[in-house]
Amino acid sequence: MNIILFGPPGAGKGTQAKYLVKKLGGFQISTGEILRNEIQKDTDIGKKIIIDMNDGKFVNDEIVNELIKKLIFDPKKKNRLIFDGYPRSLHQAENLDLLLNASNQKIDFVFYLNVNKETIIRRIQKRKIEEKRSDDDQKTILKRYEKYMETTKPVLDFYSKNSNFYEIDGSQEINQITRKIDIFTNV
Ligand code: AMP
Repeated sequence: MNIILFGPPGAGKGTQAKYLVKKLGGFQISTGEILRNEIQKDTDIGKKIIIDMNDGKFVNDEIVNELIKKLIFDPKKKNRLIFDGYPRSLHQAENLDLLLNASNQKIDFVFYLNVNKETIIRRIQKRKIEEKRSDDDQKTILKRYEKYMETTKPVLDFYSKNSNFYEIDGSQEINQITRKIDIFTNV
């Protein structure tokens, strides 16, 4: 089963992704984590993306698409992909379709965790204290939220017309969201 968790930063995608990984024996594909890792290791990609990331901007589609490619074609991960934070632009969504087709896979469920701005700000501030993430200051939070809403609208339109698309109120408690996901996936 391949699943996309979609929603603004702070919506709880990471938490639900970890739950699904455990439950389905899946692999979390968190582009945020992959990109942060590149910065931490100070790779060539890391050097290219650090400014955009710290500024709350999206990283270039080509870079993200390239990083994702080898994960999708990894036979160990086939049909066990839990996407968290990808795709985030129409170009990325179209690219994902191409890669899945080429590797004989499809997306089984798209879960849109929808949350309002106030809930997101509150959650990210909490995470900032717990995880000490440098991109999480107040100004960046708002920038990330606005950028997300602006860029991801076409992604939402791309997926929302499909029968495997489910919108879930992401301001609910973690286990309430988990329960909804369980019901929809029926496993
Ligand atoms: P996240 O951990 O998902 O909140 O992502 C943290 C940051 O990584 C974002 O603010 C972007 O700068 C970058 N990022 C993560 N995923 C993507 C993506 N799919 N496309 C472009 N940039 C991304």
